[in-house]
Amino acid sequence: MNYIGNINRAAATVLSVRDKRRASVAPPPAPEGKRMSKKKRKKTPAETETDILYKSRRRCCLCLGLNDDSTVKLQGHIAHIDNDRSNNDPDNLVYLCINHHAQYDSKTPLTKGLTEGEVKRYRDEMYEKIERAPPGAINRAPTPPP
Ligand SMILES: [Zn+2]
Repeated sequence: MNYIGNINRAAATVLSVRDKRRASVAPPPAPEGKRMSKKKRKKTPAETETDILYKSRRRCCLCLGLNDDSTVKLQGHIAHIDNDRSNNDPDNLVYLCINHHAQYDSKTPLTKGLTEGEVKRYRDEMYEKIERAPPGAINRAPTPPP
């Protein structure tokens, strides 16, 4: 077992202890405004998943659209735009970095969070840019403020 393997095993142990503790307590009520669907998650078909990852080149469309950051985000998720985790229609899926996924899912009615339409538009804009870009032209870090 290598060093990383040991860390992963230790992390798994910590998680399972936490899970046991949680199991004895009723789950906390969802915070008001939480949009997470109660529908059961359906696993995204592998082919659809591959398609999303390929089309996005693992870029986050919100990093690109909001921060002009088109660098690869290896730590990301395929998010359900309408928060219905059983809706695996490719038009409802988007690759987001961890931060933007968390931000998108935690929107409340009191704040003007990221909207579905906005995310879809940034996503489609990014797909188009990637498709049209010459090789090597889509890996740009955000420009620092002047
Ligand atoms: Zn992002």
